[in-house]
Amino acid sequence: MELVEESPYRFRIDRRDPMRVPGVVFASRSLLPDAGEDRSLEQVANVATLPGIVGASYAMPDVHWGYGFPIGGVAATDVAAGGVVSPGGVGFDISCGVRLLTADLDRAGLRPRLDALLDGLGAATPRGMGRGAVWHLADRAELDAVLRGGSRYAVERGYGVRRDLDRCEDGGAVDDADPAQVSERAVQRGAGQVGSLGSGNHFLEVQAVEEVYDTAAAAAFGLRAGQVTVMIHCGSRGLGHQICTDHVRAMEQAMPGYGIEVPDRQLACAPVSSPEGRAYLGAMAAAANYARANRQLLTHAARQVFTRVLGCDLDLVYDISHNLAKIETHDVDGAGRRLCVHRKGATRALPPGHPHLPDDLRAVGQPVLIPGSMGTGSYVLTGVAGSPAFASTCHGAGRVRSRNQATKAERGRDPRRELEALDIAVRGASRRGLAEEMPAAYKDVTAVVAAAEGAGLCRRVARLVPLGVVKG
Ligand code: 5GP
Ligand code: MN
Ligand code: MN
Repeated sequence: MELVEESPYRFRIDRRDPMRVPGVVFASRSLLPDAGEDRSLEQVANVATLPGIVGASYAMPDVHWGYGFPIGGVAATDVAAGGVVSPGGVGFDISCGVRLLTADLDRAGLRPRLDALLDGLGAATPRGMGRGAVWHLADRAELDAVLRGGSRYAVERGYGVRRDLDRCEDGGAVDDADPAQVSERAVQRGAGQVGSLGSGNHFLEVQAVEEVYDTAAAAAFGLRAGQVTVMIHCGSRGLGHQICTDHVRAMEQAMPGYGIEVPDRQLACAPVSSPEGRAYLGAMAAAANYARANRQLLTHAARQVFTRVLGCDLDLVYDISHNLAKIETHDVDGAGRRLCVHRKGATRALPPGHPHLPDDLRAVGQPVLIPGSMGTGSYVLTGVAGSPAFASTCHGAGRVRSRNQATKAERGRDPRRELEALDIAVRGASRRGLAEEMPAAYKDVTAVVAAAEGAGLCRRVARLVPLGVVKG
């Protein structure tokens, strides 16, 4: 794949048939994926062929190989110009995302109680592949209420406080969820999992604020140096996965009827305004609300443990998805256009002054939450004006080793002991599960965040370090 270096953090893949727009990769040279091992840049070029795509097919500095679309990819299509929506551009874990909470406590104060806290959190956080969840839903009607109401419904039922909703993307729920587009199989898979982490890459982490880069923004977010924070990363479990599977299949069948050809079957898509496009967006919105309720319920469980063990509460900084398609208005060639913005392993990053921000954050911009790894650290960023990729940035460090490669690299070693030697307590997760998730499996999050900032996608606010992690 030929890359043209446009500036230190921006590379271009020139348009050639059948690409409709160029590819743009935001990264430093050393972060670029190794073409021999990871074909994500080919995927960036493939995405550039989609009907209605505008601007470019973008890759964030954490880009790596994914299903059809790369993870760390952003693509926007013009709705009025026959632009398509593609389930592969959202991913299987619909509305997977991160929330960050703060405790009114410093790390020194937590130190003597850390083990007790993690025992409590480990026991109160359902995790792993199987069943078991915070919430036992009464019936399908109650699941539909979750699919329509997301975190708003969870708060209505007593799992949280009103202020939480001010600090959630979309006020805790997206509109236009259509539970009728969610298959019986998806319902079966999701019904018993509302309020559960899931596997591997998902986690609940107790952290401390190690460094503050922007004191004013940090203060607006409610963050100060030394403070204890909790980060929760999870998504829509089996329900979202099944919705993606169902709608990829439906679009594969519908594509020829719309005269759409794609270079990779995993890019199955349909026009946003077609019956298949609308059906997917309705089901996707339902899964998005499920994911938000999921994070709200895990928050409720964590709050109970914090109250019991430490006598303190948790305040929500922000809750943001990194796998979603959204209909948004953006300026294209000087005119406002309605676009379907796919962010897959990419985070929306609204600039200061944006009307969708809550009043108390409007002056600073949207909090952007970037997990790094359980052994290194994570970042809090904020959106900036004039961002070149439809107000989007990276979502994590991004994998450099597949799960299998990571497991091999850990052979003969003891990942739990290695983490404990770094003073990081671990609960949950099998040995193999931990091996797949060791820091060496991921890019260097500090380099990724520096590249994102260098490319003008966001700005650093604070760095967080792990104290203990409950792994899925
Ligand atoms: P994904 O949504 O792609 O599965 O994961 C997002 C990012 O989370 C990964 O790219 C990785 O950088 C980060 N990550 C995975 N596991 C952990 C963990 O246990 N703790 C933290 N802080 N970050 C993690
Ligand atoms: Mn996920
Ligand atoms: Mn995720």
